[in-house]
Amino acid sequence: MLCLRPHHALCIQKYTGHGYDEAFTRHMDELTAALRRQPDTPVRLTEGCDDLCTACPHNAGGVCATADKVRRMDEAVLRLCGYAYGQELPWRELAGEAARRIFETPDFEAVCSDCEWVGLCRETGKF
Ligand code: SF4
Ligand code: SF4
Repeated sequence: MLCLRPHHALCIQKYTGHGYDEAFTRHMDELTAALRRQPDTPVRLTEGCDDLCTACPHNAGGVCATADKVRRMDEAVLRLCGYAYGQELPWRELAGEAARRIFETPDFEAVCSDCEWVGLCRETGKF
């Protein structure tokens, strides 16, 4: 079971090898490769830091340095996809729903426009 905060359903799909530092990027490489190999991996939607944040330099003892901003993104993804914290579903389903309801609509800008990576993510295709 992979624990993911909801907006990471977007970031994982837009990942192209760029990250905060070497350890974070290596972790993302492994996580995205594993999800490509096993798209039916079960995911639990988590509030707060998750299995992706574990390698992030902005994770200070389990709290994100930009906690308010990423919480707003998480809540937007839950609302737009009709999900709730604690829900469990296959990665394939989560990724598809996030792509359909967010990447393919103007809501992508509404959710992501104040993220430092948005320029890259606008240029990147789906997972
Ligand atoms: S713009 Fe930021 S929050 Fe949105 S998918 Fe990209 S990295 Fe994630
Ligand atoms: S700690 Fe914050 S910045 Fe780092 S991956 Fe988690 S949500 Fe993103």
